[in-house]
Amino acid sequence: KKRVYTFGNGSAEGRADMRELLGGKGANLAEMNLIGVPVPPGFTISTEVCTEYNELGYEKTVELLKDEVESAIAHIEKLTGTKFGDKNNPLLVSVRSGARASMPGMMDTILNLGLNDEVVDGLAQKTGNERFAWDSYRRFIQMYGDVVLGMKPESKEDADPFEEIMDKVKEEKGIELDTEFSVDDLKGLVVKFKDAVKKRTGKDFPTSSYDQLWGAIAAVFDSWSNARAVYYRRLNGIPDEWGTAVNVQAMVFGNMGNNSATGVAFTRDAATGENIFNGEYLINAQGEDVVAGIRTPQQITLEGSRRWARLQGISEEERAAKYPSLEETMPEIYKELFEVQEKLEKHYKDMQDLEFTIQEGKLWLLQTRNGKRTGAAMVKIAMDMYRDKLIDEKTALLRLEPSKLDELLHPVFDSLAVRSAKVLATGLPASPGAATGQIVFFADEADKYEQTILVRTETSPEDLEGMHVARGILTARGGMTSHAAVVARGMGKCCVSGAGNIKLDYHARTMTIGNRVYKEGDWISLNGSTGEVYEGKVETRKPDLSGDFGLVMELSDKFARMSVRTNADTPKDARIARDFGAKGIGLCRTEHMFFEGERIKAMREMILASTTEGRKKALAKLLPYQREDFEGILEAMAGYGVTIRLLDPPLHEFVPHQQATQKALAEEMGVTIEQIRNTVADLEEFNPMLGHRGCRLGITYPEITEMQTRAIIEAALNLKKKGVDARPEIMVPLVGTFKEFKMQAEVIHDTAKKVFEERGDKIDYLVGTMIEIPRAALVADQIAKEADFFSFGTNDLTQMTFGYSRDDAGKFLPVYLDKGVLKVDPFQVLDQEGVGQLIELGTKRGRSVKKELKVGICGEHGGEPSSVEFCHRTGLDYVSCSPYRVPIARLSAAQAAV
Ligand code: PEP
Ligand code: MG
Repeated sequence: KKRVYTFGNGSAEGRADMRELLGGKGANLAEMNLIGVPVPPGFTISTEVCTEYNELGYEKTVELLKDEVESAIAHIEKLTGTKFGDKNNPLLVSVRSGARASMPGMMDTILNLGLNDEVVDGLAQKTGNERFAWDSYRRFIQMYGDVVLGMKPESKEDADPFEEIMDKVKEEKGIELDTEFSVDDLKGLVVKFKDAVKKRTGKDFPTSSYDQLWGAIAAVFDSWSNARAVYYRRLNGIPDEWGTAVNVQAMVFGNMGNNSATGVAFTRDAATGENIFNGEYLINAQGEDVVAGIRTPQQITLEGSRRWARLQGISEEERAAKYPSLEETMPEIYKELFEVQEKLEKHYKDMQDLEFTIQEGKLWLLQTRNGKRTGAAMVKIAMDMYRDKLIDEKTALLRLEPSKLDELLHPVFDSLAVRSAKVLATGLPASPGAATGQIVFFADEADKYEQTILVRTETSPEDLEGMHVARGILTARGGMTSHAAVVARGMGKCCVSGAGNIKLDYHARTMTIGNRVYKEGDWISLNGSTGEVYEGKVETRKPDLSGDFGLVMELSDKFARMSVRTNADTPKDARIARDFGAKGIGLCRTEHMFFEGERIKAMREMILASTTEGRKKALAKLLPYQREDFEGILEAMAGYGVTIRLLDPPLHEFVPHQQATQKALAEEMGVTIEQIRNTVADLEEFNPMLGHRGCRLGITYPEITEMQTRAIIEAALNLKKKGVDARPEIMVPLVGTFKEFKMQAEVIHDTAKKVFEERGDKIDYLVGTMIEIPRAALVADQIAKEADFFSFGTNDLTQMTFGYSRDDAGKFLPVYLDKGVLKVDPFQVLDQEGVGQLIELGTKRGRSVKKELKVGICGEHGGEPSSVEFCHRTGLDYVSCSPYRVPIARLSAAQAAV
């Protein structure tokens, strides 16, 4: 089996499409050789060896690799005319990681490998630059010590042991910068560094270049499993099994004097997507200097340099003198670099992020990869390349990461302002966007200031209005499907949920983070896209939905088979979703309407009534409200189906718990406060989510179903009179048996018939059900006989299939994710393996009796790309999601279909 792939001087054993085996970096180093881009010669050890290493350990892996690595080193020696470990004409190498997917900065790198006390003299003589040689040597011991020999500080409070030594010497010498060390200082540092290694590890620093190399290779493999890398993989869904490749390459030096340099460049602007070559470089420096931020990097292009100076408030004279662009300092090299970047972008047909080094006037490319970019840049670049015919429609669509579209839909923080903002706490990025406001702790005080942030331990349906009024919502508890998160996403309102380290004292009206106390009225800012909470006001700006966004949506609709509906409870949300391209409503949760204004009073009266008569009286008060709401929402979605769900939540959620509200209600209903209290206590359940809710309400109190049906049908008839095309679809929640559905369907049909007779007019309507209890999926063939449509309620279906309470999962899900019991939160990403089977089965069984059965999904998963892809594969007709996720779902549906 071949384990090592060489490259150099215009030829290579690998290719760009071998990234699984060679990692992204290795595959691209090979490819750059093949297309004539100058790359220092080297070789790549495949990702498969990483897996072998993890199984076999160090010794056996070295044995496996020895011959191939030695001949690969000989290959580099031949191309460079140098010798590994030779003191007169030494070859120095870099050893770098490189996984299939880019994991920037997560794994380890070693530079200048091959130096020892003799070789350093050879290097000094060969280059005629003693300072450079000794500086390279001290950097090597430092890097190798940290990465391979475990000299990293033990806790985050400790400083790097090598930095500590350097700081001491600087103090003794009265100097500040690394560049001020003399040759003798550097020699002294090397001695001290080696002593420190000996003291800490009990072993001498390795002098043989091959010992050094094997140590470095093993360290890079080990770094695949370091905590940082594991965390990054979890965040980005990269499998642990992939492993990293190791790239060994001849060193080129950007720190050999003023005709040497190193830098990083992008073929287009990664923030805006503009087609402008840009980047930063430093003269006489090694790569880590650019990243470390010790010196101010300079701009590559003259135009970029001038723009940078303007932003920094630096005059043109000062800029030209102190921070000239590469275009000015090395015009020839700049021209070559510009041509290389054009070539690379044309070849890869995507924006490239490149690393380069200039060694004594010669340009070398060290890396190219598809550049990371913002949502806005992602869209602009893909559409520009499509218009320029660099890529076709399908490729353009597949280039886009659906969830990143979201960044384009919400107000965003000004990038400069956010950079200087102080982070107070971090929670879950529950609903993206940026918000700035003054703290309020109670929903009914959300209008206390002009701009508020509602801060709660958690929110409840009673807080809905306040949530609407506030600019953003911050909760101490709750996950991505917590009430606050779901509602906020629905509203397109910025929300950070589950920020565990904030402590609230509602009485004192304070929020405590660590030992800092924030009061009502203090300003804070939330970044719902990252979960960060900042102190004070951070400036925001409006998103601009340019023509490119429209083009993305147009292309999406061309390819998608499924349609996209929205979950919306108000005409306003329905209109927003319609603007985003929703074709109908997949879920209108009627209960949300009961909290608005006067409605809640009548609702409470209905719940607390002890007789059917009393209930009917209260329901009669609710009827006009409901009818009006439905008219609004059916009109906003005229021409498209609107699925209205009958009352679903446990009644306990609606009743008053405060003494004053209870008293007022008692007076209004003409009963005693004790009676109210008793009923409230009666409604308390041990497991409300498995209790008296869903169609169980409609079966115990059919008059509720009657009233809601009447409101829907009357609303549709009223609209018909006005010439509006209303298409109601009535949905029964939480069905588990055929009988449940059948009984509710009968009430609905009977009521509709009655209304038609009264009005002497009729409309078309559908009656269907949620499939959100596992049993319903299993007996879907029975239910489908009577149902016009199914809508998978994957929130409850996940809850009941896993047996994880939606409202309590926050207590153990983080641990499950941390320990790897689960890879992702199943309330966010559909569990295709388990819950998915029920969706497949339910769809298949349902359609086995009714071929034309309309099937959709309306749980939170309806807006999550991988779940949308699953729905496409399973043959669903539509997905339904919150308004601001509609564009994401449209693009995901298209990607699934191309
Ligand atoms: C569901 O259970 O998936 C659903 C959409 O309903 P709700 O979230 O209102 O329970
Ligand atoms: Mg449900």
